[in-house]
Amino acid sequence: MDADRREIRGGWVAVTDGLVSALGGPGDPPPPAVRVLPASGGLVTPGLVNTHHHIYQNLTRAYAPALGGTLFTWLSTLYPLWSRLDEEAVHVSAYVGLTELALGGCTTSTDHLYVHPRGGGDLISAEIAAARELGMRFHPTRGSMSRSVKDGGLPPDSVVQDEDEILAESERLVARHHDPSHGAMVRLALAPCSPFSVSPRLMRATAELAECLDVRLHTHLAEDPQEDEYCLATFGRRPIDQFAEVGWGSDRAWVAHCICPDPEEVTRLGTWGTGVAHCPSSNMILGGGLAPVAELRAAGVPVGLGCDGSSSADAASLWLEARTAMLLGRLRHGSAAMSARDALEIATRGGAGCLGRVGEIGELSVGAVGDLVVWPLDGVAFAGALSDPIDAWLRCGPVAARHTVVAGKLLVEDGVPVHPGLSEMLVRHRQLAAGIQRAFDDAGITGAGISATARTDPAGGPR
Ligand SMILES: [Zn+2]
Repeated sequence: MDADRREIRGGWVAVTDGLVSALGGPGDPPPPAVRVLPASGGLVTPGLVNTHHHIYQNLTRAYAPALGGTLFTWLSTLYPLWSRLDEEAVHVSAYVGLTELALGGCTTSTDHLYVHPRGGGDLISAEIAAARELGMRFHPTRGSMSRSVKDGGLPPDSVVQDEDEILAESERLVARHHDPSHGAMVRLALAPCSPFSVSPRLMRATAELAECLDVRLHTHLAEDPQEDEYCLATFGRRPIDQFAEVGWGSDRAWVAHCICPDPEEVTRLGTWGTGVAHCPSSNMILGGGLAPVAELRAAGVPVGLGCDGSSSADAASLWLEARTAMLLGRLRHGSAAMSARDALEIATRGGAGCLGRVGEIGELSVGAVGDLVVWPLDGVAFAGALSDPIDAWLRCGPVAARHTVVAGKLLVEDGVPVHPGLSEMLVRHRQLAAGIQRAFDDAGITGAGISATARTDPAGGPR
């Protein structure tokens, strides 16, 4: 998979100093190597790129009181739990969440961390530390919320911040962590949560700051019909008009979900070059709807894949998201509409487009990063699937990575994470998750209790 969509049967890939240094077919002698990773009988793809996630939500995964309601009731139930986040909870949840992603063939992940409780500490630096420990390529986004219930928003006061504080903290984090160089392991983006959980002033100021710092912009957009109603009532415009009004219509931005754009808005997104993170599992679990993926791609929009947060799409496997995107594409437009190759392209080069790294990540070509996955194509699940390895990879399964390599280093080997600390991290994760959920349950607050309030609140919120 490269700019020419090249496929090589029986080939090899050489990685030197973290970058792809050569590729060849069965007739080309590979260069001498310090280490050879066998891939015979398998499929090698570029590492998959995750363009939307809220990793901390794995602390409230499949949380029963939040299930079965609307997006608003789901959020209203979970905000109070998330207000207990601190540096340790974010570090441990990121370690576990990024490991889960690596097992599913992801080599670059974003994270949209928009809950910053007062006194919670430096949560972005805590998750970056986990990514560095694991060796995962990481694009955290400095999320933010500034409109609480008292200002007509949905979140409680305990998880929103002052807007000047958000901007100052964004600038500090970019200065500390953002690496613009080729092959960078950490890049930051700025990410107000949605057009309706922050003020237009913060949206505009964030776009200006991103321009000044030359970093990317991310937010939720057009994810629910109720967002249309809210934006029309509050701003007198539809969400994508409001997005343009505050200076976000550009190829600096990529947005999550984008379920509800009308045809004219799809065209405008393509003209701007604004990317879309398609989150098929989350969109189905919360009943949000079907994103117009084929239409967006035809309009020139870079479309990547997102597993979304682990409290709405509770499994975080990009293989699963790629397969689901393929199935949804066929359901919408017929069986010829979305091939396994289309889904692979969305999961790799499409994600690179969202993150502004085309030619650098999401492909196997000389000079691109040495991020790749060796997938098994044998065993019971693949018996009889002999004719096309890419169709087999996405139609059979379920599949997890055999080997996951980032910058030439193994994160997963023979289906097992290489770092020895996972067991201890899982024990601590369970304690932290139990503490967050128990404290909430002990307070006697239930999802049903909150939902009556949420249903009367005009403001929605992001997944
Ligand atoms: Zn989201």
